[in-house]
Amino acid sequence: MIVLKTPTELATMRRAGRIVAEILETFGRVVKPGITLIELDKIAEDIIASRDGVSSFKNYLPDGAREHGAPPFPGTICSSVNDEIVHGIPTSRKLKEGDIVKLDVGASYNGYHADSAITLPVGKVSRQATELMRVTQLCLEESIKVARAGNRFGDIGAAIQRVAEGAGFSVVQEYSSHGVGRKLHEGFSLLNTGTADMGMLLRPGLTVAIEPMINVGTYLTKIKNDLWTVSTKDGKLSAHFEHTVAVTDGDPEVLTRF
Ligand code: MG
Ligand code: MG
Repeated sequence: MIVLKTPTELATMRRAGRIVAEILETFGRVVKPGITLIELDKIAEDIIASRDGVSSFKNYLPDGAREHGAPPFPGTICSSVNDEIVHGIPTSRKLKEGDIVKLDVGASYNGYHADSAITLPVGKVSRQATELMRVTQLCLEESIKVARAGNRFGDIGAAIQRVAEGAGFSVVQEYSSHGVGRKLHEGFSLLNTGTADMGMLLRPGLTVAIEPMINVGTYLTKIKNDLWTVSTKDGKLSAHFEHTVAVTDGDPEVLTRF
């Protein structure tokens, strides 16, 4: 099911998007060797509260997770380091020189959610890590460009796959992009791979969190003992970028751009 948003609803989502963008922009300035994941979580919590928002992630428990024994998600952000892909729990772990950290933030304002993520280098990182981050960000930007009315879902996945595989990396398939709005995950999921011109038609008012997760090695994943953190099966690096995007009559609007 696809829920199309009215201009008023989009205006509210824009407010949520600004909160998320402000947090990620702050992270870009404060992430350095020695800072802990829980300190980053606190920064996000404070900004969300000061902007009358609500964390989308805190206490989140998706359908099916309870049966697997997972507790509600304890953080305001997801923080995933190196081989961790997504859903990392913010802990007292200190970031160190050479790490790459994926920081994923969701916030709602007046009942509407926005969702965005970045990967940041901690100090000086390897050339491979730099290249992986560059390519993953390019995957996101190229897929946003085709999020236009008249195109189809497959165009988004195809753009991501083309850029990632063209650089010799792999696309995570066990986790997807998704609809976003009144719920953090609303209505549909959307693979980050695909065939151009296939799948559901994109229409003005559609809002989607596009989030390529790109790996250096295998696309396969595993879940760590905390029942939340998803990491690469082979222990190699992964990167993740995400924006909440609205399909319009004209150019796509990125609701989480700072
Ligand atoms: Mg996210
Ligand atoms: Mg998301």
